[in-house]
Amino acid sequence: MGSRAAGDPSVRWVDEKRRENMKIAFIGLGNMGGGMAANLVKAGHSVNAFDLSPEARGSAESGGCDAYDDAERACEGVDAVVTMLPNGEIVKAVYENDVFGHAPEGAVLLDCSTIDVATAKEVIAKAEAAGYDMVDAPVSGGIAAANGGTLTFMVGGTEKAFARAEEVLQAMGKAVIHAGDAGAGQTAKICNNMLLAISMIGTAEAMKMAEKLGLDPQKFYEISSQSSGYCWSLNAYTPMPGVGVESPADNDYQGGFATALMLKDLRLAMDAAQDVDATTVLGAKATEIYEKLAEEHGALDFSSVIKTL
Ligand code: NAD
Repeated sequence: MGSRAAGDPSVRWVDEKRRENMKIAFIGLGNMGGGMAANLVKAGHSVNAFDLSPEARGSAESGGCDAYDDAERACEGVDAVVTMLPNGEIVKAVYENDVFGHAPEGAVLLDCSTIDVATAKEVIAKAEAAGYDMVDAPVSGGIAAANGGTLTFMVGGTEKAFARAEEVLQAMGKAVIHAGDAGAGQTAKICNNMLLAISMIGTAEAMKMAEKLGLDPQKFYEISSQSSGYCWSLNAYTPMPGVGVESPADNDYQGGFATALMLKDLRLAMDAAQDVDATTVLGAKATEIYEKLAEEHGALDFSSVIKTL
């Protein structure tokens, strides 16, 4: 370890991130996982990388990971396992078939995928029964944040599991927040994204209506972004091209957060709402609107919902 300059917070931050170099298995090296695994390597960890796709394994190798062509072997002898997979069914199958019994007992397990709350809780309960600490740790932030190591992690699990997971997550993000017990990370994620979907539709409706009533949309932005209409969708992600801040709207809704992914999160939110009998009138309406949008424009940014109005 090199000496560190006393009183220099940036040096201490880097040093904290590198407190302990670990051996980590990373499963799911797609749009998000590829960059996250590379950031673990940059932080000084050694990463055994696995994905079903040989191309993804090849890219991970270029990012400094050791690529494996079988998940079980990738998990052998590791201190931690991180997964970044498409859905709950796959997450459950990967943990049951490839991780439990193959990662050493006592390893800490982190699922960063966005999945349903019930499956997250079920997999964590099984992990604990098999002697592992495990957290659900879904992320806020897209591919750029995954590549740049600036994700926000919302984490569910015991205090002990969180403390162990935090060290791994810090290498991939700018904020790591303990949301509560198992499943709390997924709960925070889907409730947040349901709110975002609703507020984006509200912002789009207000902007279009102002325009139709003859008000210059830029004037509306200037007024509402400093009034009680202030919200992230308007102030930080203005959905109308050439108005407000620069956003995917200015790039013909390319990039950003795909409508198909927003729809996935809304469906998870609606399932969870049904499980606990929560009233989500606007969440249900937003799901309907995004279902329609996704039929033709699933790859466009979710703020393209304004084009349907
Ligand atoms: P992706 O489809 O690009 O990547 C998923 C990867 O998992 C693929 O490379 C696939 O080959 C691999 N995979 C599938 N089944 C596997 C298995 N059994 N074993 C090993 N690998 C397997 O998806 P993504 O965009 O990276 O998203 C991953 C997760 O992150 C999803 O749950 C998504 O909802 C969430 N998320 C995505 C974004 C985003 O902007 N893309 C933002 C926040 C959260």
